[in-house]
Amino acid sequence: MTTKELQQKDADFIVGTYARNPVFISEGQGTSLTDGEGRTLVDFSSGIGVLSVGHTHPVWLGAVTAQAAKLAHISNLYHTQPMTELAEKLCNRTGMRKVFFANSGAEANEGAIKTARKYMSERYPGVRDTVLCLKNSFHGRTITTLSATGQDDYHKHFGPWPAGFAFTPANDLPALAKNCTENVGAIMIECIQGEGGVVPLEDDFLAKIAELCARRDILLVVDEIQTGVGRTGKFLCCEHYGLKPDIVTLAKGLGGGLPIGAILFSEKTMGTLGKGEHGSTFGGNPICCAGASAVMDIIDAPLLEQVERIGAYLKERLEGLPGVINVTGKGLMLGATLEAGMKNTDVVAACLEKGLVLLTAKEKLRFLPPLTITQGEIDAGLEILKYAISSLKKDN
Ligand SMILES: *Cc1c(COP(=O)(O)O)cnc(C)c1O
Repeated sequence: MTTKELQQKDADFIVGTYARNPVFISEGQGTSLTDGEGRTLVDFSSGIGVLSVGHTHPVWLGAVTAQAAKLAHISNLYHTQPMTELAEKLCNRTGMRKVFFANSGAEANEGAIKTARKYMSERYPGVRDTVLCLKNSFHGRTITTLSATGQDDYHKHFGPWPAGFAFTPANDLPALAKNCTENVGAIMIECIQGEGGVVPLEDDFLAKIAELCARRDILLVVDEIQTGVGRTGKFLCCEHYGLKPDIVTLAKGLGGGLPIGAILFSEKTMGTLGKGEHGSTFGGNPICCAGASAVMDIIDAPLLEQVERIGAYLKERLEGLPGVINVTGKGLMLGATLEAGMKNTDVVAACLEKGLVLLTAKEKLRFLPPLTITQGEIDAGLEILKYAISSLKKDN
């Protein structure tokens, strides 16, 4: 099918919830993509932070195809090796104690919220029932994770909303003190707000949250769905700040391209959910777990160092780019603010035409390339970005 035919059939048969780019991607290899016309593109998006080790990494591909040939699915009524091995790797890597497997980020957050609610209702019945979230957060698209999402844009049509969430602005200590009332039994954060525009939480704000949680037995729930699995140069972003969460959620980069989510529990929360209290038909799927297990092996200490180094390089190059006025984020999760008068969506469209796949977050450009990207590939992508920005400036 041609791109035109695909666009027409998409419009005919798929619900119109996405503003898709007019490009059809047929293949991926490492950091490079091929489109329907046979053009090559540099991938600075990794499928919204999903292709953590690049497209079709040989180790990942070997693990996934071998598992597909052996056993694709059997349900959680039986033991399987890939799931158990992955859980052990996740615990050893993070210091968390136990894992529950889901299929997406939103589902992982749903399970985290269920856990927080049970913990609160058992220990502080009639007193604590509220999860304190941040304004400008993003936690998913289900009704409850939207309730936890502090952005009004997502709340237009879908009420009534589940109760039990309160909000406080990021990096505002006086507001935190005021909004962390006696009803609050859990605080849920992203260390760097991804969809909110690559907004990092400040050290003293995170330190205050950690202190409040420890002192008042409030659960610290860290949504690492976008920041986790090496994205910021540490396996978990919260390691940068010395945080010890009670619950961590992962998804996006974990499966290396396959759908998987995970809830990681600390000593304090690992016993909260009991038999029959949570479940998932697909959760812990052997193929997804085999892929995730390979991702965990590929993201070793040298690769994490490379993420820090290449991320710092990308940040520095972006800061020096005409048209860019500010760069936020850590490792290979960066956001660039454009100078007034330039629209990020225009830049993304111009880049796509010239062979670079880029994302936006709010009014910024967002960079989430595969963690395996090389300096040469960064340079190649930046050449396109530079050209796209300068040609748009000329048009103005
Ligand atoms: C993407 C994302 C989610 C939702 O994940 P899905 O797999 O799309 O459900 C939740 N939280 C954060 C921080 C995310 O970036």
